Order: sequence, then structure tokens, then C-alpha cells
Amino acid sequence: MKFGTFVYEPEKAEGFDFHVLRVKQETGKRISPVSDMASNIAVFADNVAGKNPEWISQSLLGPAKFGNNNYNIYWNVICATQPEHRVEQLNYIQEVDRLSPGIWLNSQYFADHGHCICRRCVKHWKKSGLGWLEWRRKEVTDYIAQIRENTKKELVMCLQPDPITAYERYGVDFDDLAKYADAFNIVMLSKSYATPWYWEMLSRGFKKLLKKPVYISLYVSAYGDKTEDIPSATELLINSVRCARTGIDGILYFAASAKNILDFQKKLINNFDLRKRLKNYGKKPAQEVLDLVSNWEKLFN
Ligand SMILES: [Zn+2]
Repeated sequence: MKFGTFVYEPEKAEGFDFHVLRVKQETGKRISPVSDMASNIAVFADNVAGKNPEWISQSLLGPAKFGNNNYNIYWNVICATQPEHRVEQLNYIQEVDRLSPGIWLNSQYFADHGHCICRRCVKHWKKSGLGWLEWRRKEVTDYIAQIRENTKKELVMCLQPDPITAYERYGVDFDDLAKYADAFNIVMLSKSYATPWYWEMLSRGFKKLLKKPVYISLYVSAYGDKTEDIPSATELLINSVRCARTGIDGILYFAASAKNILDFQKKLINNFDLRKRLKNYGKKPAQEVLDLVSNWEKLFN
């Protein structure tokens, strides 16, 4: 297994195999890529591009705008066929690929079920002769193929933690994406991991379905979180071990900065009783999580 950080600030916490930097967030904010951290880019979720109201993805349940509670949408999401945005993102991804060791895409698909019914999408769909869902799938897959053609380094597809209806909701076909992706990252961000059974089940499900290595991302903290808002070190360690034993290929820890990651590492190190108890939670993969914590202990003591 490999272990990484998934962060907003361009600093590397010690004790991990790799790092992913959020160079373009869903807010549209961009920061410079760096040469020794992979770059995470939110493609269609983009509040800055969303300032063009006619670019926002449309549905019978309203637009993909923050505040439309028919969907779990926290940003403005651009229509996945918007031609100017597609070209601009493609050029941007190509440039970032040149400057960093890899690209981790998220929001590289339709906003959700029922999207997008803008005039352009309906026109393209009718012209295609395909069924509605098949047309959406083709739009997503063709764009990913174009991105693959224009990038040279590692390309990772981040996915929502929905193994069953990604096709109907986002136009995502896992096998299509596996042709172009070097790996997948299931973004399992949650402020609580109180019931690890569910996360373990999702890890197992994705490992069965996806034809490339599978990473998961777990939430440590983000900007503005209070201590009582974030998952406890106990929950994170139990969840890491239980997801690891499903055979996934790696875990990323999501936080604002390397400093937040360090605080989390120290809390895990000090959880001595739990580390001991988890030793029987599965063989090699679970042991690799515990070895990681032991290595941090050596690093910091
Ligand atoms: Zn559209």
C-alpha cells in the first residue's frame, strides 16, 4: 500500500510516499503547481467560471448552483459540454501536467442525475442518435480521452463514493475511465467515520469494480474546522485499518496543510492501546497502516 497527503498548501508532511496538492479548487481558486506534488484539479465545479450564468449545468430540478438543495451541490457546476470551458481546462491541465508529477482530476463529469438539459446538450444528444445516458457517457469518456492524449504523466480519476449509480448520475463508466486512468481515488471525505462498516464496504466494492489501482481519501481537517467538527484520531485509525484490509492500494489523508497532517500523525502515534488492539484486524494490509504509524513514531521521537 501507498500513503499520501491531499492538501491545500504546497508543503509536504514527512512520513508519506507521495503528496497531492489542490491546485484548482471548486471555488475556482488556482495556485501554482509544484514539481514534487501531484496536482488535483476540479474541472467542471468552478465558481469563477460559474460567473457566466449561461454556462451553469441545467436540470428539471434547477441549475447546478450552490443553494439548490435538490442536489448535494456545494459549488456552481459548469455544463460538461460547455465548449469554451472544456478548451480552457484542457489547456490548463496540459500546462499543469508539464509542471508537476501528475494530475488528479475531480468533477470531470456531469453535475448529477438529470443534468444537463441546456439547449446545447439537448441538441448534441438528439444529433448523436444515442440514448440519453449513453450520450452523457460518451461526452464524459471522450473528454477524458482528450485529456489523456494531452498529458504525459500520471493521470488519476477521483470518483464520488457511489459505486452503483455513477453512470446514471454523472455519466461515468468505470471501465471507460480505466482505459485512460493510471489509478482511481475514491473521495470518501466525511466529518465522521463513526461507522467504519460502511466505508469498509465501499472500499471493498470499488476494489471489486475498478480495473486500475484504487486509492481512498479520508478527511482529517480543512480550513475553519473546530476540533469538535473533525473525525477523531481513533475513528481515522480504525477506518484506515478496516478499509486497508479490503485490498485497496492506498490511502490519502485530506487536510488544509502539512501542519494539520502533523497534528493528526501525533494523535495517531499516541493512541497506543488502539494500535495494539488493531493488530488483529487483518493481515498484511492492516499491518501496513500500523507500520506507517510506527514509522512516524520513529520520525518524530
Ligand atoms: Zn449542457
